[in-house]
Amino acid sequence: MHHFRYSGHDLHCESVDLAAVARLYGTPTYVYSATTITENYQRLQRSLSGLDLQVCYAMKANGNLALLRLFSNLGAGFDLVSGGEIRRVVAAGGNLRKSVFAGVGKSEAEIKLALENQVFAFHVESEPELARINHVAGTLGVKAPIAIRVNPDVDAQTHAKITTGKSDNKFGIPLRQAGAAYEAAAKLKNIEVKGVQIHIGSQLTSVAPFVEAVKKLVPFVADLKANHGISYFSIGGGMGIVYRDALASGEQAWWSNQPAGQGMITPESYGEALTPLLAPLGLKILLEHGRFMVGNAGVLLTRVEHLKRGASKNFLIVDAAMNDLVRPAMYDSYHEIVPLHRDSSRRALVADIVGPVCESTDCFAKDRQLQEVGEGELLAFMSAGAYGYAMANRYNARLMPAEVVVRGSSFELVNARETFEQTIANEKIPAFLK
Ligand SMILES: *Cc1c(COP(=O)(O)O)cnc(C)c1O
Repeated sequence: MHHFRYSGHDLHCESVDLAAVARLYGTPTYVYSATTITENYQRLQRSLSGLDLQVCYAMKANGNLALLRLFSNLGAGFDLVSGGEIRRVVAAGGNLRKSVFAGVGKSEAEIKLALENQVFAFHVESEPELARINHVAGTLGVKAPIAIRVNPDVDAQTHAKITTGKSDNKFGIPLRQAGAAYEAAAKLKNIEVKGVQIHIGSQLTSVAPFVEAVKKLVPFVADLKANHGISYFSIGGGMGIVYRDALASGEQAWWSNQPAGQGMITPESYGEALTPLLAPLGLKILLEHGRFMVGNAGVLLTRVEHLKRGASKNFLIVDAAMNDLVRPAMYDSYHEIVPLHRDSSRRALVADIVGPVCESTDCFAKDRQLQEVGEGELLAFMSAGAYGYAMANRYNARLMPAEVVVRGSSFELVNARETFEQTIANEKIPAFLK
């Protein structure tokens, strides 16, 4: 559930009229609902309240400093994937001692930074990485706490580009080799074996693959507890959100949109299915959800540049582009697109909704039906809080978009639109061309 809805004819985030935000800060601009994020976080915690839980928000989904502070205030740690993310948490005043450092290619400098900041654990993806962490810890005279990421070889039934738990993905160590990897880890002088980790993919819409992966791991995890005294099991992230009918899903229970019998995953169904499997282990359970926390808590505001009526098609050209929100171009993702001002007297329009970037993949939606809108009018891309700004870039010399956070009737610009001068600050003309 989320806090985007029409009040009268105008789309609001909590009590804030989104058109007012667009007028003040321009477009394209991301807007996040702090209350939605808070409720998502608390709902997930409640759904697994029978367990000794530690939530590590997967900040790669959205690393805005204001949101990191919000998560930190809620008691979250972070799932980190780079030195830059470690430094962002420091900048936001977040807690690194509750945070875990994942990723297949941690550099020596990143490992050192994580050790200096006393992260809760490293999530190790290979034997060579283990050796490197052992080496860096030795030079600092400390022991590095680790968990090995085990690849359970299950099909997450999600988009091929965001599945991570099959044996042909680059992630983790296969279950049949994991025992040997733990034996090797236990022999390393500067390594403390502390837990075990899995993460099978992103945008999972059913509970079944989570259940399959956890069931596959449980005997192995129990052995690790008995033989290596591990204290935690991280079951990763990956809970999916509603992208179709995203707006309506805020006004009713979102799972009621799903066809009967194939229930969309919810924190409740996830908790209900996994708690009985996990509780008997008697371990701390780490969760690393990213998308679920912030996905439906954000929208991207955009303005219509032109309605171009083509021979066979209409094109609605907007001022946001694939550089601002790359998911449709990269993963064929669906985003609901709605007008900020709803007017039932308008005719319907069917159009491809496209950005100004010079690429045919700069297309947000094909043959989408919405109310007729014209130049200067405002639209919102729903469910844009996760992997939106985080994946934005400057292709076509465009500027990184602005970000705004709303709580109740308050809103604040938390990341100003980039300036042209910032984008060229590190560049120079070499002497031989002068
Ligand atoms: C990306 C990632 C997550 C978060 O995935 P979501 O689908 O956003 O929940 C969690 N853990 C690891 C190791 C990841 O790489």
